[in-house]
Amino acid sequence: MAKLPGLGPRSARRAVLHLIRKRALLLTPLSDLMQTVAATARECLNCGNVGTADVCDICTSEKRANGELCVVEDVADLWAMERSGVFKGRYHVLGGTLSALDGVTPEDLRIPGLCSRIQAGGVKEVILATNATVDGQTTAHYIADRVAGLGKDVVVSGLAHGVPVGGELDYLDDGTLTAAMKARRPL
Ligand SMILES: [Zn+2]
Repeated sequence: MAKLPGLGPRSARRAVLHLIRKRALLLTPLSDLMQTVAATARECLNCGNVGTADVCDICTSEKRANGELCVVEDVADLWAMERSGVFKGRYHVLGGTLSALDGVTPEDLRIPGLCSRIQAGGVKEVILATNATVDGQTTAHYIADRVAGLGKDVVVSGLAHGVPVGGELDYLDDGTLTAAMKARRPL
């Protein structure tokens, strides 16, 4: 348990003790579910999402075939986007970001797979929703270049950066405020 992300040894001990005390209510159902997940969970061969089939529900849903492809770093980002309900297209999960320091190359990510999907046709817009970090933005620029090089009629866009909903200017860091000022729009 202590090896799980976000759990240190102390939190892990507390969680384990809690599970043992709630054996019937928590531990047994959880262990059954874990076995099911271990046996059935797999990555979608098309987009990298996690599901129980070779190709996930989002990739096979005809309702989502609107030509929009949202590129995210991680499955957790895909789930965040799905929770918001704002996006009705399909996804492509990179599985990380490019990093010269850590030796992560385009071939280590699902970038060749992304190019193949665009080459196959039907994609009208690629939305680069990588994180607003240096690596995330470097990766987005690299992908934008690669997509332009494919010679397909595809619009490449990125998420806006700036003031969060409900945010107060006084609390923003300089980088966010600068990004918001640069991305200002007519009202
Ligand atoms: Zn999929």
